[in-house]
Amino acid sequence: MKLVFASNNKNKIKEIQLLMPQHIELLSLEDIGCTVDIPETADTIEGNAILKANYVTSHFGYDCFADDTGLEVVALDGEPGVFSARYAGEQKNDENNMNLLLENLKEKTNRNAQFKTVIALNLKGEQQQLFEGIIKGKIIHEKRGKKGFGYDPIFVANNYSSTFAELSVAEKSKISHRGLAVTKLIAFLQK
Ligand code: IMP
Repeated sequence: MKLVFASNNKNKIKEIQLLMPQHIELLSLEDIGCTVDIPETADTIEGNAILKANYVTSHFGYDCFADDTGLEVVALDGEPGVFSARYAGEQKNDENNMNLLLENLKEKTNRNAQFKTVIALNLKGEQQQLFEGIIKGKIIHEKRGKKGFGYDPIFVANNYSSTFAELSVAEKSKISHRGLAVTKLIAFLQK
């Protein structure tokens, strides 16, 4: 079965490919010739996942799924949330985003946060399905680790001491927000 993952993010494709059963061939946006940056204009994580999946379905007609993720920090009332990619500006720079988050948390004692992923799945002739994955943890004070992407160097999952950027892709996928959402997606596809 061919299934489009509405993303060109190599890190995410690698993470998800590791979890997919062999009979599902994952195609990226590049693989189907979709070169536009699909607009993410919704004000919720769910809304953006739905926008991206529906864009691929309506323009290309493939079975597909799209994900959207946000980092929700308790002391910042859930920010950066749906704005996680562009927290420090439109250039979507991971280092700037982390620096701004650490700055905004400087005076805060509550460092609790969670990553939340929502996946929207469109299969021809079927109702759209949504799958959610959440991992709770803490924002540490200084960046640690070189793997992963985004806010990985400053996020430590509960009951772990390594940041997400210190875990291998396989270790991270086993417990991560996206890993959990993908596991639900795969269970659905295998029904
Ligand atoms: P997206 O919706 O998956 O593109 O995620 C939006 C933003 O959230 C990204 O640009 C990253 O800054 C952040 N993000 C998403 N997934 C992860 C992750 O697994 N680790 C760290 N940051 C992430």
